[in-house]
Amino acid sequence: MGKLLPSLLLLFVLCDPGLFAAATGASVIHADVDATDAPRNIFHARLTIPADQGAFTLVYPKWIPGNHRPSGPIANLTGLRFEAAGKPLAWQRDPVDMYAFHINVPVGVNEITASLDEITTSDSAGATGAAASTQLLDLNWNQVVLYPQGARSNAVQVAASVTLPQGWKFGTALRVAHQDGQRAEFDAVSLTTLVDSPLIAGSHFRQVPLAPANDPKHVIDMVGESDASLAISQQDITAYQNLVAETGVLFDARHYRHYDFLLTLSDQVGHHGVEHHESSDNSVGERTLINPGLHLLEAGLLPHEFVHSWNGKYRRPAGLATPNYQEPMIGELLWVYEGLTDYLGNILTARSGLWSPEQYREALALTAAAMDHTAGRAWRPLEDTARSVQILRLMGPEWESWRRSLDYYSEGDLIWLEVDTRIRQLTHNTRSLDDFCRAFHGGQSGLPQVVTYTFDDVVKALNAVAPFD
Ligand SMILES: [Zn+2]
Repeated sequence: MGKLLPSLLLLFVLCDPGLFAAATGASVIHADVDATDAPRNIFHARLTIPADQGAFTLVYPKWIPGNHRPSGPIANLTGLRFEAAGKPLAWQRDPVDMYAFHINVPVGVNEITASLDEITTSDSAGATGAAASTQLLDLNWNQVVLYPQGARSNAVQVAASVTLPQGWKFGTALRVAHQDGQRAEFDAVSLTTLVDSPLIAGSHFRQVPLAPANDPKHVIDMVGESDASLAISQQDITAYQNLVAETGVLFDARHYRHYDFLLTLSDQVGHHGVEHHESSDNSVGERTLINPGLHLLEAGLLPHEFVHSWNGKYRRPAGLATPNYQEPMIGELLWVYEGLTDYLGNILTARSGLWSPEQYREALALTAAAMDHTAGRAWRPLEDTARSVQILRLMGPEWESWRRSLDYYSEGDLIWLEVDTRIRQLTHNTRSLDDFCRAFHGGQSGLPQVVTYTFDDVVKALNAVAPFD
């Protein structure tokens, strides 16, 4: 019982209490985002935050899930203004923690408002590049919120809304509570769920249902610089439908209520892939769906980010399952979080028909050749590239072979290829890594939740498939 209790407690704590708070009307932050200036790459937000009188510290999200590092774009937080009962409130940034703001709430006031302008020219979901263009935007709510210092993000309730430029349509995993013209209000959710549910919008928008009969519903929400960029082929639609089906076979469970592949097609904004429980935020070149070369290079992106819903979001290294966005993340198991996802994502790219088996082998050969020529492997263990993600992520290509980069992706691929091969050899091809995935990432389908793991948990689960020291 001793061993079981802590993990059960963790399971419940990490589930979304926001639904309960919403039902009971417990204190809710209202976050109203005005994105009508998105074409100028600036988002405006007005937050109404319950507060008790006295000293009060609000923080801006710093460690961003999926980025695995302190990428919260604090330098772009401008126009900050606090008010209580309509009167301006003095504020002071903490002298050490750049992400913390101190105010004093006057007597008799039970909520304050904070307004801010987030410049988005250099933060596309934590990657370099802009988050918006004249035709589209990618809103990550961590860019436009403040929350009480010390609060658990699961315990903070947020009712969010957004106003979009005229004629723009949007896609997000959030559920719409009310829409009036260009303004949409969403069901109140926990801050965890809000930050985990980005929104894309644009003047050129298309939603493609994938296997609509499938329960839960899976769709691709696309925005592009032009209607032509949204011209996804029937062959691709079939391949993404296969991808949904293949994950059902591989994991034998789904830990989400519905799933949105958010896909931005533009050369004006930053490119990235960021995983979430019920969606993924993908940004690629404008012609990716209509240019065969680009299509080949990016074919593995959506499968990779989709796999993260199981490996990264549902099953997560304990060191990356932090209670809020101020607690440092520990990256040492990223060769599982990202390495295994890279391996499975590429395999699913081939299984779904987005790549041919030969193209898959070519991609693997390229990875192996790249690792063969990475001189830094002589001094830097792979695990250290995982531990030091926060210092390696934005490094340029100069001396990369000696410094190493985020090799837990590519060399992670090779490690999991060896694990898969070893299981097949040990069991005379009666078992494979798929059996590990069903056992480790499967279980009961249902609401998004986080089940953490340690190195020992991974080893134990692998030994249950095929004992090997
Ligand atoms: Zn990833």
